[in-house]
Amino acid sequence: MEELLGVHARSPRDDFRIREVTVDHALRPDPLPDVDYSFNPYVGCYHGCVFCYTPRLMQTDRAAWGSSVVVKRNAASVLAREIRKLPRGLVMISTATDPYQFVEGRYLITRHSLEVLLRAQWPVSILSRSPLVARDVDLFTQFETIDVGMSVPTLDDRARALLEPWAPPIEARLRCLETLADAGLRTFVSFAPAYPPTGNGTAEAIAKEFAARGVTEVFARTLDARWGVREAMLARLRDSEIGTELARISNGPYMESFLVDLRDACRSHGLTFHGAGRYRKQEGTTEPPTAVSEAT
Ligand code: SF4
Repeated sequence: MEELLGVHARSPRDDFRIREVTVDHALRPDPLPDVDYSFNPYVGCYHGCVFCYTPRLMQTDRAAWGSSVVVKRNAASVLAREIRKLPRGLVMISTATDPYQFVEGRYLITRHSLEVLLRAQWPVSILSRSPLVARDVDLFTQFETIDVGMSVPTLDDRARALLEPWAPPIEARLRCLETLADAGLRTFVSFAPAYPPTGNGTAEAIAKEFAARGVTEVFARTLDARWGVREAMLARLRDSEIGTELARISNGPYMESFLVDLRDACRSHGLTFHGAGRYRKQEGTTEPPTAVSEAT
């Protein structure tokens, strides 16, 4: 077992494959509104979330997603070269992998890339499911423009264990958010894809927990269950004690209604709520996703 911010996490799987490559490009223009570039230090993701959209984008086998990662060994030096030539803009880290999955602890590609961006003071937005994020708080606090977020789509770790079995526990993510907020950083939660309440969960309890951890903004979005996601998910939920409750994740009208409750609860706790996902800042709305599904 590993320990992340006082919470035990399972050790890396023995059969997980790691491959190293060198790349020619680091930044990609990003089509999301309000984002200029995306930066992905790795290809593939250890967390293997069942709803991840990246297998579809990469046209790889969803069943094999989460079994390997490719490390872009020279990504930070390529990034340093690129930012000398490109117009300055907001860099989103990451859009197709988790920048703080466990290999980052060994390779530090994300950290070295942040050092490059910090020297040039490029604005950065970071999103992860891993509390390893807290390692780099010394860098984050030196940026003029930065926001750091954690994906926390449920407070029920049983639900997390079903749909994102290799991602760190929810409590570790909440503690990470608290650590970041205590350091004076602006933090956000990506409540995506939004899980339905399970057990005794309520919108009020979720909003209250986020507020208590110092979060200032919540970005929520419903699941895009196309492209084999629904089938893969239902297979995971079979025989689970919370399977029936959790299966509501793909019930559009139910989830839209739940997000209205969550929006109201967030507002009552002083949190800004965005109902159409990260960087789709239609304040207070609960539109379903269009092109964007879920990674990190
Ligand atoms: S959703 Fe994010 S954390 Fe999960 S597998 Fe995809 S990239 Fe990794």
